[in-house]
Amino acid sequence: MKCPACQETMKTEDFGGVEVDVCKSGCKGIWFDWHELTRLDESHEGFGEALREAVESPRANDEGRGRLNCPRCAMPMHAHRYPRAQQVNVDECYSCGGMFLDSGEFHAVREEHMTDAEQEAYVQDLLEDVPAMHALREDTERMTLRADALRHMTRYLRLGYWVTGE
Ligand SMILES: [Zn+2]
Ligand SMILES: [Zn+2]
Repeated sequence: MKCPACQETMKTEDFGGVEVDVCKSGCKGIWFDWHELTRLDESHEGFGEALREAVESPRANDEGRGRLNCPRCAMPMHAHRYPRAQQVNVDECYSCGGMFLDSGEFHAVREEHMTDAEQEAYVQDLLEDVPAMHALREDTERMTLRADALRHMTRYLRLGYWVTGE
């Protein structure tokens, strides 16, 4: 599978039985299929290190970058922005539910020290940020899965939690 940001071939990494695609040889971005996302937590060996690499690597192809296409189904992904940093944090594919965590993007969020209340507000923003996706809204089960996936993703955005054990 090609990385949506830099087009390098991504490597499937097994974090304790949960498989995630990491852009090892390129930008260090991380792709999650959503059923994997909801299963992955801090107990999964090696995942914190992959996140750290993503944090510390510069964004690829940053200037004038357009929408990223989903590496699974080639649909244009929806970029969720963190409200204060004005930066893209998560690219979400509404078609297959996958999410891409871009390299370099965590810095601003981490430095802003998202509080619990801010995190919850951010999750709510993400949950409601589904333009023209009526079919998805009507699919209750899928929306519940999506909510779980977004809550997990938001935990990863609070990187202090992962990288420094805060
Ligand atoms: Zn990449
Ligand atoms: Zn997709």
